[in-house]
Amino acid sequence: MTAILNPPKIGSTLLIVDGDDGTRDHLRQLFEDHGHAVVTAADAPSALRLLHREQCDLIMLDVEMPGISGLALCRLLRAQTATRRLPVIMFSAHDDDEHKVKAFAAGADDYIVKPGTPGELLSRVSAQLENAERERALMGSNRELSFLADLGRGLLCALEPAQVVRRVAGATYEGANVTLCGAAIRTDEGRLAVCVFDREGSAEGAAMVHLDRLGAWLASPGSAVSVLLTDKRRFLLRDKTHGVEYVAPLRFGGKAVGALIAAFDIREACGETECRLVEAAAQMGAMAAHISSLYEAARRSSENLAKEVERRTAEAERQRRFTEAIIDSLPVSLHAVDREYRIAAWNRNRELGGQGIPRNAVLGRNIFEVLTKQPRELLESEFERVFTTGQIEHIELETTTPTGETKHWLISKVPMRIEGDEVSHVITVGEDITARVQANRAVARTEKLAAVGRLAAGVVHEINNPLATISACAEALETRLDEGALDADDLREYLSLIRSEAFRCKTITNGLLDFSRTRAGRHAPVNVAYLLASVARLITHQRRGEKIKIGIEATDSAALVSGDEGQLQQAVIVLAENAIDAMPEGGTLTLGMRREAGRIIIEVKDTGVGIAPEHMSKIFDPFFTTKEVGRGTGLGLAVCYGIVTEHGGRISVDSALGRGTSFAISLPALADNEESSKSEVQGSNPQNPGTGFEL
Ligand code: ADP
Ligand code: MG
Repeated sequence: MTAILNPPKIGSTLLIVDGDDGTRDHLRQLFEDHGHAVVTAADAPSALRLLHREQCDLIMLDVEMPGISGLALCRLLRAQTATRRLPVIMFSAHDDDEHKVKAFAAGADDYIVKPGTPGELLSRVSAQLENAERERALMGSNRELSFLADLGRGLLCALEPAQVVRRVAGATYEGANVTLCGAAIRTDEGRLAVCVFDREGSAEGAAMVHLDRLGAWLASPGSAVSVLLTDKRRFLLRDKTHGVEYVAPLRFGGKAVGALIAAFDIREACGETECRLVEAAAQMGAMAAHISSLYEAARRSSENLAKEVERRTAEAERQRRFTEAIIDSLPVSLHAVDREYRIAAWNRNRELGGQGIPRNAVLGRNIFEVLTKQPRELLESEFERVFTTGQIEHIELETTTPTGETKHWLISKVPMRIEGDEVSHVITVGEDITARVQANRAVARTEKLAAVGRLAAGVVHEINNPLATISACAEALETRLDEGALDADDLREYLSLIRSEAFRCKTITNGLLDFSRTRAGRHAPVNVAYLLASVARLITHQRRGEKIKIGIEATDSAALVSGDEGQLQQAVIVLAENAIDAMPEGGTLTLGMRREAGRIIIEVKDTGVGIAPEHMSKIFDPFFTTKEVGRGTGLGLAVCYGIVTEHGGRISVDSALGRGTSFAISLPALADNEESSKSEVQGSNPQNPGTGFEL
């Protein structure tokens, strides 16, 4: 029964150590008969020598030996690494407890009292051999487990392919008793990362590997499974003396991404355990290679991302500098504020001049902290209007420099939208328009003198009739006086005629005098209906014959605009004169006005020849005229345009050839209640630059 349950362990090598020749022979016979190999020694020293030379699986040790006793030898064996786990059975003639206890204390695994029956001897030896094998197997598994745990830990922190191959090859080299060990994985760039641990245990690179053979094997279907190579011509590692190579593929997702190559000097060294370890290491290596490729991909994309961010940052910076250079190069002072009134831009020109402040000292600061010379409420209401209406605002200002020089400025507040419809910033642009204003005024003065001249001709013509009447009256009075026929009634009648005719002359010349005297510069509320009536009066004398009718359609006698009356009068006269010129065969000139969305529109309409379409874009150009030399200067409309824009107005024209032309001047209406406050503002601001003007 026992034999069936526990078949005797055979095929082992036993060492019998006994001083008695008979006992040795007897035991040798017994065990050899049962399939074991037996070596013998007569004493402890020769047993030790033998153990040094040969591999034994079990020792039967006589306790009572000459010289060194069996107990002493047993203790010695237990103290040495090579024999620490060798099963030792003590064999003794003594059957007492004391001897047995001593034997076990010395490290014996079993104790047999001599002579022992063959059955007892065989079964006890078998039992010890099985124990030893179980223990060996257990230790083997322990070693594999700790090898794998160590490798796993090592791979946890290996992210680069080079680190992975080094860890896998190194761990396998150490853990599987391999002579040479190499690991290779294909990186994402298609390169092979290789590490080989050579016989001296130092890590080498790709020079130790037949890369061509390895590449071919990886690409072949053969790399689906591990292979044992014994043909030196197929070896993957470059080494002269090894005898076999065990090559395990590193497979992930059905693809061989690399290989683990374990080389042994002799075929026998590549046992089942070694192969199992190499396989396990290859699997872990494959997993680590996959993680490494994910890591590489992530690193590359983060590198690309970093480069892209860098590129875009540089691009944005270039763009910023470019925009800044444009803004700095503009011949205007410029700054921008956001909705919180923080200064967001401040150009080079704004840094210069008497009111200049360096950009670094103002960026991000509140505009009202920086521009302190202007009343905060006024400045804030200007910004507020642009933020709410989204409309550009232009203001013209006049300042006086410390040297007494007069300067003219066009201040524009421009709405800016970064996203959507809402105004996010207001840009304030300040332009020195002194030269332009002065030039306009010079031209206007010249034109005015010319107009006065032309009007005077009409006036002269007009006062000729009353003068003739006056002189006829005087002559008649003289004749009557000579004839002595002058009575008081006649005298009164003639004098009354003379007075009314002289009064007529005076009215005519006064209008001309008024017009020629008005000087540019003063802005005040101007009544538009009154303005049109005075223009009509002046222009009446220009009619050539009776062929031109002048009509006034000024219905709104309360309409006011803010401006320089003389200049506005001049602008309308320019249009009216052109209208008359355009009707050589006669026609109707209409001076009209209407209100429209907070503005007053003054209209000058004729039924004349009209403007040719190709001339339309040029008529406001200075010196453009279609009139013969001596009749036209080409400056009228240019002057008119200058006056209107200086008043914050716009001028437009509509014409049909052969049918007539209509010019419209649109000016901001002055609300009744504004009238008084506006004149205050005018009084305190442009006319009084000493209070400190700021953009
Ligand atoms: P000028 O009257 O000295 O020629 P302007 O600047 O006043 O210069 O006018 C420029 C030109 O515009 C005129 O020569 C004429 O061709 C054209 N023009 C202006 N107003 C009219 C009008 N009402 N009808 C026809 N043409 C006109
Ligand atoms: Mg003209």
